[in-house]
Amino acid sequence: MLSQRCNKLLELAKKDGIDAVVVTSQINRRYFSGFTGSNAILLIAPGKRLLLTDFRYTIQANIQSKGVFEVIEESRAIGMERIKNELASIGAKTVGFEDASLTVREFKAYENLGAELVPCSTLMANIRMYKDAYETEQLIKAQNIADKAYAELLTRIKPGMKETEVAYELEYLMKKNGAEDKSFDTIVGSGENGALCHAIPGERRLTHGDLVVLDFGCKYNGYCSDMTRTIAIGEPCDELKKIYDIVLNAQLKALAALKPGITGKELDAIARDHITEHGYGKCFGHSLGHGFGLEVHEAPSASIVGETPFEPGMTITVEPGIYVEGLGGVRIEDCCIVTEDGYINPVTATKEMIIIE
Ligand code: ZN
Ligand code: ZN
Repeated sequence: MLSQRCNKLLELAKKDGIDAVVVTSQINRRYFSGFTGSNAILLIAPGKRLLLTDFRYTIQANIQSKGVFEVIEESRAIGMERIKNELASIGAKTVGFEDASLTVREFKAYENLGAELVPCSTLMANIRMYKDAYETEQLIKAQNIADKAYAELLTRIKPGMKETEVAYELEYLMKKNGAEDKSFDTIVGSGENGALCHAIPGERRLTHGDLVVLDFGCKYNGYCSDMTRTIAIGEPCDELKKIYDIVLNAQLKALAALKPGITGKELDAIARDHITEHGYGKCFGHSLGHGFGLEVHEAPSASIVGETPFEPGMTITVEPGIYVEGLGGVRIEDCCIVTEDGYINPVTATKEMIIIE
């Protein structure tokens, strides 16, 4: 698996005239070498797979890279000299680097490698956009854990609880059910706070008449889940009920259209048009969805600029929302994996409005 990923990288790099690639971000290091530690540089070139790391990680790197990479103990500063020599030894004239994550300081050090630097972040993102069977399995497991945690949360959540308590409870339940970590900071937006798309859980207590936006996810073997449900604390007012139905139908319409060939832009438009037709177009200010994998936000995107047609193996969330300042918000999100004839949606939680009394 790791070998295949590296071969794919070199195959595509070669098409762009790149002789070797240096991988420096933690996520891409993990993807290509399996190594999860905090410090390493990978050099991937034809016939060469080097993983340079410091003393703390050599044993771990040898285990995780499964013999695919030669692990070399080097400090990062010395590592640059080593890479320069390796590039010279194979006659590499061009070297791919991670333009999206390298700092200016690191970039300056790279300028002395003796090879022309070619930005490669998009190329790596495009490779990671296609999930293989192993990755699909991890993504589904992560979502299964989040689903279980949510089901348990519904038996514990009560009026009067603080948003922070709800967030901690969810995070505890995800870990209890087997998650390594949360995949992003849990969002709990109750009442008027629900109008803040990325509400930070605060001291506000769940109150009768609130809708509560719960957006959360966890990691399993490094792979991220992402789901949103909006629940009611007691009977909500008519406008909130109306908004809930509009968002739900927008989400269901978009899901019904999700299949290989449709672009992110087209999918986004289906949900957006539905919301606009019902008079809330200005209250849906974010994109419909994003890919997810080792990172919770990855390519492709379902947005007004999402030109990529979906293909089997790609992931996409479908998460329309309506946010009304002073009143509240509704978002409903599933995380889907595109297949040959449609998609897998591992989110099992109901989308019927749940009312907690
Ligand atoms: Zn989410
Ligand atoms: Zn999302």
